[in-house]
Amino acid sequence: MRRTFTRDLVLLAGLAALLVPATAWSREVGAKRDPATIRGIVLHSIGGPACVKGKVHYQTIQKRPDDAEFWRGILARGKSADVHYVVGRSGTVSSLIAEDEIAFHVVGNNDDTIGIEMVNSGSGEEAFPQAQVDAVIDLVRKIRERNPTIALRNVVTHAVLDQRTCECAGKTYPRRPDPGAAFPFSKLIGAVTLPGETAETGPDLKVLSGPAKARLCVTR
Ligand SMILES: [Zn+2]
Repeated sequence: MRRTFTRDLVLLAGLAALLVPATAWSREVGAKRDPATIRGIVLHSIGGPACVKGKVHYQTIQKRPDDAEFWRGILARGKSADVHYVVGRSGTVSSLIAEDEIAFHVVGNNDDTIGIEMVNSGSGEEAFPQAQVDAVIDLVRKIRERNPTIALRNVVTHAVLDQRTCECAGKTYPRRPDPGAAFPFSKLIGAVTLPGETAETGPDLKVLSGPAKARLCVTR
């Protein structure tokens, strides 16, 4: 179905509100950093939960053949770089900023991580196409080849690092559950584990928990 321009604007405004707001933890976004300080890779989905009229809701992310480039363009129009890479459903990878620049994708860990945004609703119900999963695996492998300072234990989901909760009509829900249960995370880890590398428990990164401030939760 052809969408109207107005409907697109409403959708984009809602999704833009899902992006991580500024915090005092991060240095200047887009600032250069020493590649030797990069320690982690964080996986995201474009979509995430919002409290809409008293119900937790995941916006459907429109299917389009150029979704990686489309979302790269949307993110590039923001005041700050929100992520390093966008991976579309077809497996297309778009780069937003260089790995040696700071993007603004995960509160508390922006300075030393690389962010990968996957086009998906993040609901845990929308399947990730094989081409998209394969592209993410390939991208994570290449990032780790370029940045050997990234330990396997620090290849993580946003959900692991931001465990804070929001309230919607008295019901508690995770603020950042992305990329969601539909993403085959253990398959990715198996595929990017290097020979001789052992599984370690838990990331060596900042983990946030507890109730999030209301202003950090998306309500419409
Ligand atoms: Zn995220």
